[in-house]
Amino acid sequence: MGARNINSAGILPLTLMERRKTHQISIGPVKIGGDAPISIQSMTKTDTRDIRKTVFQIRRLEASGCEIVRVAVVDEKAAQAIHEIRRRIRIPLIADIHFHPHLAQIAMESGADALRLNPGNMGRNRLKPIVLEAKSRSIPIRIGVNSGSLEKDLFERFKGATPEAMVISALRTIEWMEDLGFHLIKVSLKASDVLRTIEAYRLFSKESNYPLHLGVTEAGRGQGAIVKSSIGIGLLLHEGIGDTLRVSLTGDPVEEVRVGYEILRALNIRRRGVEIISCPTCGRCEIDLIPLVKKIEKGVDQITAPLVVALMGCVVNGPGE
Ligand code: SF4
Repeated sequence: MGARNINSAGILPLTLMERRKTHQISIGPVKIGGDAPISIQSMTKTDTRDIRKTVFQIRRLEASGCEIVRVAVVDEKAAQAIHEIRRRIRIPLIADIHFHPHLAQIAMESGADALRLNPGNMGRNRLKPIVLEAKSRSIPIRIGVNSGSLEKDLFERFKGATPEAMVISALRTIEWMEDLGFHLIKVSLKASDVLRTIEAYRLFSKESNYPLHLGVTEAGRGQGAIVKSSIGIGLLLHEGIGDTLRVSLTGDPVEEVRVGYEILRALNIRRRGVEIISCPTCGRCEIDLIPLVKKIEKGVDQITAPLVVALMGCVVNGPGE
């Protein structure tokens, strides 16, 4: 965040800061970075080898507005399943691969639109043919740095998975990929605590223009997880940092997409679906508002047009205003 973004009183302005200009890449038809809209991603929670269940979940995600989906590739069968899954869904698919680079080769042959690799758990010698293959197929790779799986030498040098260590992990992997002539790169720097995540993304965005995938990893479930993701992702977006996002929740992935859109809507970045404004109710409430709000929420769930519906319990914040 540059000093120009802070006013004379040292206070961050309330309006969104100018979005950081990044390189643009394409995952299937979805553009990421540059002036492309900030896209919403999610990840399936099914066993990828179970094609029927995975396709069913991805179709629910598509209906909720998910624009890119990631699937876990745990073995060769999962990597091969991508071929059939890809055939039956509309949104681009990213293969998420840890430990076994040869699975990335199969995933690419099966039609994956992009790869997510973790530099912390794959050696460069084994990764090199994958990067060269991705280059020849124009398949983007996300360098997904996770605080929990940082390279050992960086962990020791920085005495932990500090934001600086995470950024250096990403930068040196980028440099290595660039030396191989590969530039279709996207980066994430996820930690499970919000402040470290924010700091890592801030630092990285000063050093590099590759597009950024935002997220707070292992955020947990329920309200706590939503608050963590909203603060982490929301603050970064407010500072103009971030090109695509995934809200990680323990639970239904459709909720991840809903929360993602709520974050974008709260910041006035993108609007999708019906926004329900309702009062908290109090002793003046003249109707049974809580079940009514739940009923309306359910009823407008499938509407994708950006609308606002206001439900107030009495004249004070209702027709009176
Ligand atoms: Fe109470 Fe009426 Fe305000 Fe709702 S709109 S919180 S019922 S005063």
